[in-house]
Amino acid sequence: MSKLELVFVPAPAIGHLVSLCKFAETLLKRDERLCVTILIIRPPPPWDASIDAYIRRSSYDTEGSQIRYMILPQVEPPSSEELAKSFENYISLFIANYRPLVKEAIVSNKWSDLNTKIVGLVIDMFCSSMIDVANELDIPSYLFFTSGAGFLGFLFYMSVWHDQVGREFNRSDADLKIAAYAHPVPSKVLPNFAFVKEGYDSFRNHGVRFKETKGILINTVAEFESHAVNSLASDPELPPVYTVGFLLDPEGQTGTGNSKSEDDEIMKWLDQQPPSSVLFLCFGTRGNFEPPQLIEMAIALERSEVRFLWSIRLPVDAETTKLDEILPEGFLERTKDRGIVCGWAPQVDILEHKATGAFVSHCGWNSTVESLWHGVPIVTWPLYAEQSMNAFQLVRDVEMAVELRLDYRMHDSDHREIVTAEEMERAIRCIMDSENPMRKRVEDMGEICRKAQMEGGSSFISVGLFVETILDS
Ligand code: UDP
Repeated sequence: MSKLELVFVPAPAIGHLVSLCKFAETLLKRDERLCVTILIIRPPPPWDASIDAYIRRSSYDTEGSQIRYMILPQVEPPSSEELAKSFENYISLFIANYRPLVKEAIVSNKWSDLNTKIVGLVIDMFCSSMIDVANELDIPSYLFFTSGAGFLGFLFYMSVWHDQVGREFNRSDADLKIAAYAHPVPSKVLPNFAFVKEGYDSFRNHGVRFKETKGILINTVAEFESHAVNSLASDPELPPVYTVGFLLDPEGQTGTGNSKSEDDEIMKWLDQQPPSSVLFLCFGTRGNFEPPQLIEMAIALERSEVRFLWSIRLPVDAETTKLDEILPEGFLERTKDRGIVCGWAPQVDILEHKATGAFVSHCGWNSTVESLWHGVPIVTWPLYAEQSMNAFQLVRDVEMAVELRLDYRMHDSDHREIVTAEEMERAIRCIMDSENPMRKRVEDMGEICRKAQMEGGSSFISVGLFVETILDS
């Protein structure tokens, strides 16, 4: 039997790699003629070992399966001046430098037997430069969008804005009418890159190039983001849109953080707590706070008398890492019967646990989908990247989260902001209130999202349509 092969090019970030790998697994379950090769671009040095750890674990899990990982040789990163101007543009330029290596890998196709035909290149949002490779080799390209349909709609909107206004955004711009959002979007919730020329140009260009692909796959569920998905699906300028989510790794990112015994200790503690009683606070792979903010958080947790599981990460240049020196005096001792703090948290397991009642989150897309999947309501505290837009959508458009902040920015040198203990305590009491109807709405949405992946569900059907498209190509 001849094999049909898809080549995936993920961005060099663990949060982007995981859902793409899960999508590869989903595809393989749908048609045995398919196989997938994932070309790994490691992040520029000093790289984060989490990608290597994840591949090691996934390669072991998928041994004998039709997924292969191929790590590409390291290329020279762009200059540090580019990095200082815009992280997003720097990464996009770095990935673009890999075009010859990706082409060479596909042309030599050393990993495949002769009976394999390459039927598509599936690229991450940072990898639109790889469309050049697909075009040169006459292979169809597909976008796999690791964030939500709303944010993707914003990337398309950037061209509309540019035609009208001709410049990057300002935080003082009037609210924006972005088709993918049901409500006007305040400019202050746009991602940082939108305010910086290099980042703005880079993502506007990605948005333009996405239209050249033969299809757009999104890690979302049509029922959850119905407004955004409908707006993309009805845009005549776009290729077909496939909602294939939520793709999450039920084992979580265990390879990247704690030892097994540390994780076990956290889970054992959760086992002893009453159902839906614990507030979980965790802020993604990069989220961290300065001591003054941590103190406000501790005060809020103490005053609200809630049980809590708090993942604390400090800035790399923190003067001390001793939490008892940073947090209010005696806080850890006074709260030891109802709360624990940790560094890395086994997030997916925690969200799945019946004791977990709510999640104070930075609203990264993976955290958002993991929380919804398990029916855990979110308190929004966005920090970086597109998280403010996700938070805005969760609070205003789909009404599935309690607003703490929509426009907070981590380590914003222009505007150092503290979320006060009072604000936080209010949000905690609101989300933990068992009478809050949002709790039921989120639980129901979790159910809907899980059904979407089952036979006959919206994501199941969408994946099927994509498989048909590939088989026909
Ligand atoms: N994560 C985790 N433990 C932590 C912090 C993060 O397991 O202490 C995982 C989380 O489950 C999610 C990912 O890391 O899968 C974070 O991805 P997200 O898109 O939410 O945020 P990012 O880190 O990319 O900003």
